[in-house]
Amino acid sequence: MSSGWTLTYEGIDPETEPLREALCTLGNGRFATRGAAAESRADETHYPGTYIAGGYDRLTSSISGRAVVNEDLVNVPNWLPLSFRPGGGSWLGEGAVEHAEYRQELDLRHGVLRRSFVVKDAAGRETRVRERRIVHMGNARLAAISQEIAPLNWSGPLEIRSELDGAVTNRGVERYRELRGNHVEVISADATESGTIWLHARTVQSRVEMVLAARTTVRSEGASPTATSERCGNRMSQTYALDASPGRAIEIEKVVALSTSRDPALGDLVEDAILAVDRAGAFDQLVVSHQEAWTRLWDRFDVEIDIEPADDLAPFSIQLILRLHTFHLLQTASPHTMELDASVPARGLHGEAYRGHIFWDEMYVLPFFLTRAPEIARSLLLYRFRRLPEARASAAEDGRAGAMFPWQSGSSGREETQIIHLNPRSGAWDPDRSRLQRHVNAAIAKNVWDYVRATGDREFLARHGAELLLEIARFWASMFEETAEGGFGIDGVMGPDEFHEAHPDAHDGGVRNNAYTNVMAAWCLDAARRALDLLGDRDRADVTEAIALTEHEVERWEAIARGVTVPTLPEGLMEQFEGYGRLEELDWDAYRETYGNIGRLDRILRAEGDSPDRYKVSKQADLCMLFYVLEDGVLIDLLRRAGYELTEEKRRETIEYYRRRTSHGSTLSHVVFASILHEIDSPAAWEHFLSALRSDVEDIQGGTTPEGIHTAVMAGTVRHVFERIAGASISDGRLHLSPRLPDAVRSVAFFQRVGGTLVRIRVERTFVDVESLDRKGRPVEILVGDGARRVLQPGDRVTVSLV
Ligand code: BGC
Repeated sequence: MSSGWTLTYEGIDPETEPLREALCTLGNGRFATRGAAAESRADETHYPGTYIAGGYDRLTSSISGRAVVNEDLVNVPNWLPLSFRPGGGSWLGEGAVEHAEYRQELDLRHGVLRRSFVVKDAAGRETRVRERRIVHMGNARLAAISQEIAPLNWSGPLEIRSELDGAVTNRGVERYRELRGNHVEVISADATESGTIWLHARTVQSRVEMVLAARTTVRSEGASPTATSERCGNRMSQTYALDASPGRAIEIEKVVALSTSRDPALGDLVEDAILAVDRAGAFDQLVVSHQEAWTRLWDRFDVEIDIEPADDLAPFSIQLILRLHTFHLLQTASPHTMELDASVPARGLHGEAYRGHIFWDEMYVLPFFLTRAPEIARSLLLYRFRRLPEARASAAEDGRAGAMFPWQSGSSGREETQIIHLNPRSGAWDPDRSRLQRHVNAAIAKNVWDYVRATGDREFLARHGAELLLEIARFWASMFEETAEGGFGIDGVMGPDEFHEAHPDAHDGGVRNNAYTNVMAAWCLDAARRALDLLGDRDRADVTEAIALTEHEVERWEAIARGVTVPTLPEGLMEQFEGYGRLEELDWDAYRETYGNIGRLDRILRAEGDSPDRYKVSKQADLCMLFYVLEDGVLIDLLRRAGYELTEEKRRETIEYYRRRTSHGSTLSHVVFASILHEIDSPAAWEHFLSALRSDVEDIQGGTTPEGIHTAVMAGTVRHVFERIAGASISDGRLHLSPRLPDAVRSVAFFQRVGGTLVRIRVERTFVDVESLDRKGRPVEILVGDGARRVLQPGDRVTVSLV
């Protein structure tokens, strides 16, 4: 059972423990630690990973005789270890024990992970343990654990051990285990005179240094615990000894600081970490300031939803999951991330899937921040801006112009996508052509454009945004080639549907004229021209001179956008790519019957010696992404200029055509179909929305979430509430609201930032209510549905009837 704020687990279940660990991760946008038990070590059940935003390291491994270079988000030394043992017994976490009354709670409102249980050892000694854990959201260097241990039926000597564990490797994802994962080497470790232990380590290749310092205190009435510290290999540990007896609880606190060479304003890392724990207060004080920081976030990011007749995602609730998603996104990127050079990894800071890389998923995630904390969105865009030189070099190496961003991005912005990947179904290492997904460039351009449009931040456009847009436009222009019909087309790319890596029996990878890529590329060419028009004369001259952009190039962009090839099926619908219509139909029912879950049809077909390239099958929304990403009017215009008339009827038929041929092998697909079906088939949209909500809490793909959350899906579900259910959008400083509540939703409430003003919006069936939370802000213009226009004065409130 779970309330709207607390994710609760009863009992221990080794099977689902890895999932629990991912979902109970605590973080603050600077670093995050999986919710592994404090007494656990990495084994088949537990994986206590800690990851620093932007903390990557690159190693070369030998796979089937090939040198494979891979860059990982590094699992850094573990600050958690805390254990105890009654005299003569084993350390908790090492010997066989029985657990009773085990309960674990993730308190989302306060950002606290709680555990409580009774443990019985081999000698029958029962001990009650109560624990709280935080990763501080206010002071992002700090984390802490508080434990209360109470012997229930025994007395005698007790030892308590607190460690900093540098013996860590990246081994959280089973299929990567053939790759080297020993990214961390310990430089030194010791204890200060006052009893703070510390451990200094660095990554092998990128030389990111990090220091953990821990102050552990043990208190028990009438007892005077003595402590000894020692270094054992790559672990620094401290052990307290005392006498314990029933009725006398022992209180333990472990306060930890993490300093890294990626932090600003630091001198000596060891000194800094030690000082930070010395200055940190006791756990109870830390918890207060931590909760205050969370309250400030929730006061902008909370989304409330009221479901009728009853929320049926038992044992969870829609409300809880939306908050869980919000919580994990804020732990991955927060105000602290703005000080770092980092973006949002597809799988959060919650595990090692996709090696912590950054994908086009940013396009799903950015609006989550943009609408409530645009300054965080801006900092994510700067991650890309700083990697423009690398993207230019990649374009040049590929024989292109402008900037070509990688499909998977890590530290430097070079392409991090593997060239081979393991098919767990067949055990074979297959070629990986996913880097041909050049559409990631359109995602970056779209984010830049949306940011500028929502905030009106001209300074950003002039200094950073325009250059990104222009260099991406240049890249697309160099990808387009003139066709025999006098139009323009792109060859050799993959669309978002990763099942089609090539035309059947083709030698080269990629497909011709993927409609999503072509149309988005044309959109980028338009956006770049519009960005130039938005700039003042001086700024425009500066940026065009800096990148030596010519009038001729810009004119050609216009010609290309007009002549972009939009492939069509014989039925007159847009075709996913040229030749898709000639592919074979798959016998979906037969595959479902044989395999049950056919999300990853690619793996199934390849393991059968076949290939998805031959069939009309899609892993996720591909062409239909156009309806998700672009506003209707913009898309219709773009297509019309290219000679394709998109009517409402065709739009519906297109969505239906591809939905029937999509396996939703990526959970992103549910987010997209929920959104694009919202107005045309509300019950179907609702089902996709529920699938997207369930995807991480229930790990619906059977094993992906334990390796990291899906940040894009999490953001997509939250956005669905305000963008689709409430129909909220912000452009040119105005708030538009076009609510369309599904049958099951009675009301939603959330915050948005319009211009500089924070507003709270509540949508019910019969009215919308908007309250300005800034008394000094500017008036906000609100447009409701097709008609009503209201002006909201600072600190005021307006209610608009919907009937
Ligand atoms: C999806 C991609 C996505 C990636 C990272 C893949 O499974 O197909 O679209 O970018 O996961 O989330």
